[in-house]
Amino acid sequence: MTMQVPFVDLKAQFRALSQEVVPRMMQVMESASFILGPDVALFEENFATYVGARYCVGVESGTAALELALRACAIGPGDEVIIPANTFIASALAVSAVGARPVLVEMDRAYLIDAELLEAAVTPRTKAVMPVHLYGQAVPMDAILDFARRHGLRVIEDACQAHGARYKGRRTGSFGDMGCFSFYPGKNLGAYGDGGAIVCDDPSSYETLRLLRDLGQAKKYEHVVKGDNCRLDSLQAAVLDVKLRHLDDWNDARRRHAAAYDRLLREIGIEPPVNLHHEGHVYHLYVIEVENRDRVQGALSERGIATGVHYPIPIHLQRAYADLGLGPGSFERTEQSANRILSLPMFAELTEDQIVSVVDALASCRPLLVA
Ligand SMILES: *Cc1c(COP(=O)(O)O)cnc(C)c1O
Repeated sequence: MTMQVPFVDLKAQFRALSQEVVPRMMQVMESASFILGPDVALFEENFATYVGARYCVGVESGTAALELALRACAIGPGDEVIIPANTFIASALAVSAVGARPVLVEMDRAYLIDAELLEAAVTPRTKAVMPVHLYGQAVPMDAILDFARRHGLRVIEDACQAHGARYKGRRTGSFGDMGCFSFYPGKNLGAYGDGGAIVCDDPSSYETLRLLRDLGQAKKYEHVVKGDNCRLDSLQAAVLDVKLRHLDDWNDARRRHAAAYDRLLREIGIEPPVNLHHEGHVYHLYVIEVENRDRVQGALSERGIATGVHYPIPIHLQRAYADLGLGPGSFERTEQSANRILSLPMFAELTEDQIVSVVDALASCRPLLVA
């Protein structure tokens, strides 16, 4: 009998961390400084330093981070933003939320936006490009930055799956005009609820973002722009500040687990995922491709192995995006992979025994894996 392997194990992480994190949460509650208190400012400073950016603005979610970044870049109705066809729906929803149009671009062999197809997506309305560092792997940013420079576009990085990931030694989020992060509980750096952040280097963008997240207030009851209420809670900031100190260790553990998966999967004839940057990948997700994916997923589930699919329905085939008028066949690579991809259990606390169990269970699905 194989052991039970959850897809992520947030309970194990809390058990290891409770001594550190609970007192910090108590401090916030005792101080009763719940909104934009010193814990938010402290976390923002530490996270900006971690990413290698000058400024950080904490917000309520990754989706809000993307939306505010777009608004701070003055992107709105009539504008177009280039995003990958293969991403979480929130990348597109943020563009739609500001009234702009997402323009999708096919993925490359690493599941990232294909830089060679960017030119063909440009129109006179294009204002920005949003590379998404999907599954924990940095988009090769040289090509993106060069493309953006040639066309005068803003670059908003969706780093919601890539806390601490590197490209040429620099951390994701620090390349574009703005870098956006999610602290959804299951992310590499996760809060105990929703959370997000935007990092940037430009002081005036920083001021704009601070206004936008807090009702447009320069001072209490003085509103200089039509802002929103999407602040990061002090309690979440305190949790994140504690967790940030562990992020590099957790990412190292994820890379070790990925290396173990790579080796064991090759032994059973399954190709591991493409890793473009080696030590720069933070493996938010470990994604393989299999034939008969749904049946394989069912067979693994019967053996107590939890898996995921990120994502089963591409954005352009979602009912919400029927208005894009892009039917089946618009992005063949994205569509084909959506039927084949399978995300294996991946989290820092994963054990060697659990990894072996996952691969053993896959090996016993062998008849399903062959075409
Ligand atoms: C998680 C995620 C988001 C949205 O973050 P939330 O905090 O859930 O709003 C956006 N983009 C990508 C790629 C994500 O993985």
